[in-house]
Amino acid sequence: MTSKKNNLQPVRGTQDILPEENRLHRYVESVALRITELYGFGEISTPLLEFTDVFSRTLGDTSDIVTKEMYTFRDRGGDCLTLRPEGTAGVARALISNGLAQNLPLKYFYRGPMFRYERPQKGRRRQFHQVGVEVLGVASSHADIEVIALAHHFLSALGLDHIITLELNTLGDLESRRSYRATLLNYLAVYKDDLSDDSRARLEKNPLRILDSKDEGDRHIIADAPLLKDSLNDASRHFFEDLQEGLVRLSIPYKLNDKLVRGMDYYCHTAFEFTSTDLGAQGTVLAGGRYDGLVSEMGGPVTPGIGWAAGVERLSMLVNTPPEEQRPIAVIPTGQDTTSDALMIAHQLRRKGFRVEYGYTGNVGKRLKRANAANACAAVILGDDEISRNVGLIRDMDSGKQTEVSMDLIDDFLSKFR
Ligand code: ATP
Ligand code: MG
Repeated sequence: MTSKKNNLQPVRGTQDILPEENRLHRYVESVALRITELYGFGEISTPLLEFTDVFSRTLGDTSDIVTKEMYTFRDRGGDCLTLRPEGTAGVARALISNGLAQNLPLKYFYRGPMFRYERPQKGRRRQFHQVGVEVLGVASSHADIEVIALAHHFLSALGLDHIITLELNTLGDLESRRSYRATLLNYLAVYKDDLSDDSRARLEKNPLRILDSKDEGDRHIIADAPLLKDSLNDASRHFFEDLQEGLVRLSIPYKLNDKLVRGMDYYCHTAFEFTSTDLGAQGTVLAGGRYDGLVSEMGGPVTPGIGWAAGVERLSMLVNTPPEEQRPIAVIPTGQDTTSDALMIAHQLRRKGFRVEYGYTGNVGKRLKRANAANACAAVILGDDEISRNVGLIRDMDSGKQTEVSMDLIDDFLSKFR
């Protein structure tokens, strides 16, 4: 098969990430690594490719991801594989494959690319990146509190606490949800013919997901639907109260949102999202919930779980500028025969931990200009005369002041600039 467009564009919805953008991504990931370490999470890396079953069985046949968004193909051996659209299913699969359920509870952090066939737009790509966490083996709401506190801490460490809102809901346990499902179906029966095609298809399999519909007509119908919280049994209500009490004690502000759902049967109790109005339509930066039935659904032992995932691209857009980095020292040879000496000096400075920009080409003026553009704090200028006297001319790039310094004292002198 040939590609439709025989040009050198990247595949629609994917992009090359250039150094500037990568610096932001790396910053977001490094903060996630640092904060998750504070909470005792270890990093797990699962393959980008899994058997399609891993996702289709766990995400449910009515989810957007499974019905429309997966990159699925047969490999040369005939196996049906999928590029991972999210991280939780792979972690649950890894728990089972590695027999890790013996060592519960476990706390994992993950990061990396995810793939979804979606309509590309701002904050929505076909290859994007997530950081996420999973806690496996803790049934009590303590884990929910800790995981939400971690998310809040992470977003605060990125400086985003003033522009995000935590939205919170409970789905209750299986019994509560069954009873709500019946109530909801009863209500929706009257509007059956007015629902969107997507929602009508969900009536049978997964009516809760209709609450999440973005369709205008659906939203009108949903506005007056009975609320899940009125179908909660005592155990579910207590679970949710404990969670909210915990968040209040930790001074984590939240807003209740009745319409926040995760549709599958194995999701239960807590559902939450951190949203920001600064992102336009794609306002959710971090989303998570409890999935006590997922591991057993996959064929593993009954294992409660809770986790969240955050989009690195959306977080990067909000962070916008990464923190300052070490300013470089420019090393600029100006003489006929000073190139190899200059390379040597650049080499030595780098081995001592200085960041060095080596001025390759152009006259001194041009090289100084480039040093300025690289935000250099100082330049070491090396002409034939300086080399013969074993000195370097050091220019303070901010003040323009130049000082002649003996080669032996150069790193001492430059240390002042760090
Ligand atoms: P949305 O409602 O935006 O489609 P979702 O419910 O599909 O989000 P999740 O599966 O919960 O998203 O993923 C968690 C986070 O991953 C999202 O909050 C978002 O920040 C990010 N994310 C999801 N899909 C994309 C995408 N196609 N491009 C970029 N980021 C994404
Ligand atoms: Mg989506």
